[in-house]
Amino acid sequence: MTEALKEQIGKLQELQGRIQGLRAVPAHVFQTSRLGGTGKVAEELEVVKGIGEAGVSESVQGALQRARESLDKDGSSLGTEHRQERRKRRGERAATPEGYVNEDRKRTSFVRPATEEGVKMEGLGEWAREFNRTHDKSKLRIRERLLRLTVEDVMTVFLGIGASADGRVRVETIRAFGAREKPQAHGESGYSVFQQLTQQLGKVVEVESGATLQTIVELVESYDVVFVARCVLCGRVVSSEGHVPCVVRRWNGSGWDAEHIGCVIEGPI
Ligand SMILES: [Zn+2]
Repeated sequence: MTEALKEQIGKLQELQGRIQGLRAVPAHVFQTSRLGGTGKVAEELEVVKGIGEAGVSESVQGALQRARESLDKDGSSLGTEHRQERRKRRGERAATPEGYVNEDRKRTSFVRPATEEGVKMEGLGEWAREFNRTHDKSKLRIRERLLRLTVEDVMTVFLGIGASADGRVRVETIRAFGAREKPQAHGESGYSVFQQLTQQLGKVVEVESGATLQTIVELVESYDVVFVARCVLCGRVVSSEGHVPCVVRRWNGSGWDAEHIGCVIEGPI
């Protein structure tokens, strides 16, 4: 490989890295402007401008031109296969930023789509016993219309339940407390992470009002890694602003994506 070609590839790789960093900019700008920090917003916009300038610079354009010519000459589809592979791995997200958000919304939900019938009120006791028998790290207790779900060493969650028209258990309210605080069925956690979790889960049961008890319980269980899960949007465990872990979960078809509230461009939901 000639030195010139190496240099051109290096330039394109560097630009690719900077372009990937662009995804975090809207959320940062939104967050900092909400907090009244205009200096940082200007800084972020400078970054965007810099990437734009690099993209149209002679050296990058020359490298892109050469890559295009080489691809046309090549005839094999190696390059695009690689791209398709990557796209598949990333959940077949669309290539444009606008499409990306839309595609993402179509393919993710806040609960896993139910594969079994929802638990009915009369079967609740039996289901909870079976749950406790088959789960080591989480335990359920029923007290009338309140389920207490303990996720070992992480949190205690109260699920307020009601019955839907067909007799299925429907989760109506959720309150989360830290494992080391005294949980109160009608109180509020003293920790901001569990306050935000309570808020997020409350919105989920509102939006996914037809969700079965099993899928809501599964969602709560997915927070067993709340203190170590990395955000799929910024890659951090705690957010850069506020230092709160990822309280948003999305089912991506095969597992849970964790996100910070501040990283979700459209807000918590
Ligand atoms: Zn994040």
